[in-house]
Amino acid sequence: MSGKNVILFGPPGAGKGTQAAKLRDLLNVPHISTGEMFRYHMKNNTELGQTAKTYTDKGQLVPDAITIAMVKDRLSRDDINAGFLLDGFPRSVPQAEALDTILNATNVSINHVVNISIQDDEIRTRLAKRAAIEGRADDADPKVIQNRINTYKNQSEPCLGYYRPQGLVRDIDGIGSIDQVFDRIKKIFN
Ligand code: AMP
Repeated sequence: MSGKNVILFGPPGAGKGTQAAKLRDLLNVPHISTGEMFRYHMKNNTELGQTAKTYTDKGQLVPDAITIAMVKDRLSRDDINAGFLLDGFPRSVPQAEALDTILNATNVSINHVVNISIQDDEIRTRLAKRAAIEGRADDADPKVIQNRINTYKNQSEPCLGYYRPQGLVRDIDGIGSIDQVFDRIKKIFN
């Protein structure tokens, strides 16, 4: 099997979280989701959670400095030695650069950027469904959904331009059943 230092990338609603859970089980590596970390802090009303909420509520990115510090701390644990699955990070070019700096310090590098792609219309449909099922505040309001799509296009998508020249991007069609999409992802690791 090829290297297990993986970034799961894609717009909101592409199915990153769902696929991450399956890929974590396949690769047997920790699943590190910045969205989940922020939701944990918000639920427990920590200082970090209170700050994050002012951004996530609007569909904006939590500032890079805060997000990078949180990820740096998580990546300092030994459980990532055999690999890791980053879900929702990096979401900006400065975050991608900071990740390289963090990893380079211990001679670690990214092996795959799994880019799950879906169309804008499909994003809207899926987020509306998720709001109904999971009750996520940031999925409920069409204005917030549009903000998250814009944020993805303006700030996150440029990360692909950072990784593509390095030959790290694996493009995956996100349309289809959960298992169909996962079968496409599995091929990367065969
Ligand atoms: P997610 O569950 O990945 O969709 O993340 C939910 C929200 O958490 C996002 O809309 C952002 O407000 C925030 N968030 C998650 N990951 C990041 C990140 N890498 N950088 C900045 N904000 C993030």
